[in-house]
Amino acid sequence: MNEFELIESFFAANTPARNDVITGIGDDAAILAVPPGQQLVTTTDVLVAGIHFPENTEPEDIGYKSLAVSLSDLAAMGATPAWFTLTLCLPAVDEDWLAAFSRGLFTLARDYELALVGGDTVRGPLVIGVQAHGFVPEGEALLRSGAGVGDTIYISGTLGAAAIGLLTRQGKLDLTVTERQNAQAKLDRPLPRVREALALRACVSACIDISDGLIADLGHILIASDVGARVQLSQVPVDPVCVAHASGDERWRLALTRGDDYELCFTVPPAKQNQFESIADSNPGLYSAIGEIEAAPGLRLVDGNGKIVQLPATGHNHFAHASGC
Ligand code: ADP
Ligand code: MG
Repeated sequence: MNEFELIESFFAANTPARNDVITGIGDDAAILAVPPGQQLVTTTDVLVAGIHFPENTEPEDIGYKSLAVSLSDLAAMGATPAWFTLTLCLPAVDEDWLAAFSRGLFTLARDYELALVGGDTVRGPLVIGVQAHGFVPEGEALLRSGAGVGDTIYISGTLGAAAIGLLTRQGKLDLTVTERQNAQAKLDRPLPRVREALALRACVSACIDISDGLIADLGHILIASDVGARVQLSQVPVDPVCVAHASGDERWRLALTRGDDYELCFTVPPAKQNQFESIADSNPGLYSAIGEIEAAPGLRLVDGNGKIVQLPATGHNHFAHASGC
C-alpha cells in the first residue's frame, strides 16, 4: 500500500462531508469557508508515543484521543468545531493499526460532524499531530484573560481519574475490573466539553481546559486576567476512583497537578450567576463551584477550616521533567 492508497482508504474515505469544505483532501491545500460574522479559531496538538500516551495504548484509543485533546482546546475557547488536519509520522504501514486508529478518530469526528480536510504522512517514530479549526461569533470567544474579582470559579466533571488510569496502565496500582475500565476510559477517551462550553458561552468570563492539572491551568487564567483566587479544597470534585486509591497529599497531587482530565475550568461573574444556574440545571451535578476570584495575586488553596494548604504549585510541564504524560 503506498502513501496515497493509505490516505484514501483509512482517512479520505471516512471523513464526514461538510458544505463549507470547498476543497478537502487531495489538493495542495484545503479551502474552507468560514461563515459570515464568525471568526476562525485554530489549535494544534502533538502526541508522541511513550510521552503523551503509554506505548501499550490501543490504537483505537490513540486515534480518539489525538482528536479529543484538540477539541477540548476548541471547547475552552467556546468554539464550534468544523475541520481538522492530521499529521501522521508512522514507523511502518501496519494496516490493522491504521484501521483501528482511524476507527477511534472518526468515532469522535462523526459525533461532531468534523471534516478531515488534509494532513501529511511520513515515516519515523510514532507521532500524531492534529490541528483543529472551528469558529465563534465575532468577539465571543472565551479567553483566559476575562476573569474579574468576585467571579465564581467552576469546574466541570471530576478530577484525578485519568491520573489513576495512567498509574494503572503503568502497572503501579491494582484496581477492580470496573474501576480500571472507568479510570482508563477517562485517560484514553476524554470527553471534550464542546457542547457544554457552547451552552455556557454567554455567561462565562474566562475559560480554560484542564490538560495540565487544575493548579497549573487555573494559574494561567489568574495570570492572564491579572487576579488571584481562593479555592476551597473541600469543594473540588475529586473522582471517586481517586478518593478510593489515594489519600492525603497524594490524592491532591493526582487530582490537582496531573494532566489529562480535559474538564473545563471557568469563571462566572455575579451578574451572570442566574443565567449560569439555569443552564447548569439542565446538567445536574456536572458543575462544581470551587472558589472565588480575588484581587490579591496567587492561588490560595484552603482546607475546611479556612487554613491555607501548601501543595506543589506546578502542573505537568514537558520541559521540567524527563518524561511523562
Ligand atoms: P504535498 O506533497 O503537496 O504535501 P501530500 O502528498 O503530502 O501533498 O498529500 C496529498 C494530499 O493528501 C493533500 O491534500 C494532503 O492534505 C492529504 N493528506 C496527506 N496525509 C494525510 C493524512 N494523514 N490525513 C488526511 N489527509 C492527508
Ligand atoms: Mg505532504
